[in-house]
Amino acid sequence: MRDPLTGLLNRRAFHDAVARDVARARRGGAPLAVIMIDVDHFKRVNDDHGHEAGDRALVALAAILRDGVRASDLACRFGGEEFVVALPGMPVELAAARADAWREAFAAAGLVGAGGAALRVTLSAGVAALGADASIDAALRRADEALYAAKRDGRDRVVVAAPP
Ligand code: GH3
Ligand code: MG
Ligand code: MG
Repeated sequence: MRDPLTGLLNRRAFHDAVARDVARARRGGAPLAVIMIDVDHFKRVNDDHGHEAGDRALVALAAILRDGVRASDLACRFGGEEFVVALPGMPVELAAARADAWREAFAAAGLVGAGGAALRVTLSAGVAALGADASIDAALRRADEALYAAKRDGRDRVVVAAPP
C-alpha cells in the first residue's frame, strides 16, 4: 500500500482510495483537484550527486507533500520521481496555489549533494479539476498534459489545465 522510500501511498493504493473520493465528489457536487508533480532534471541530480542524494530529494519532497495536505487528501508516489496529490473539495485555483507553495518549499529545501555541496532541485507540476462526468484517469491525463507544458515552458513552474 505504501512506497517504502517515502511512506506515501503507492499508485495502486491511490487508485483504490481516489475512487471513493470521486464517487463522493459526484454525489455532493463538490470539486476535486489533482496535482501531478515531476522532479526537474532528476537524472542529472543522480548523475552529478549520486543516487542517495537523489533519494534524499525524493524523501524531502514527500515530507513537503505530507505536511502540506489534509488528512482527507491523498498524496501518492506515482512512480520514480513522479508524485500525484488528490484534493477532494478543493477548487483548481486553490490547488494551483498549494502546488506553487510546494514548488517554492522544495526549491528551498536545503538539500546536500555530492561532497557536502548545496543542492537545489526544482519541480514542475500540472493541476487539473475532475470533470463533472469525466473519469479520474481523464483528470490525471489533463494534469499530465499541463505538467508537460510546465516542462516545455522551462520547468520550476505550475501549469493549470484548461477546464474539461
Ligand atoms: P525532466 O525535467 O524532463 O523530468 O527530466 P528528468 O531527468 O527528471 O527525467 P527522466 O525521466 O529522464 O529521469 C528520471 C530519473 O529518475 C531517472 C531515474 O534514474 C530516476 N529515478 C527514478 N526513481 C528513482 C529513485 O527511487 N531514486 C533515485 N535516486 N532516482 C530515481
Ligand atoms: Mg519523470
Ligand atoms: Mg523528471
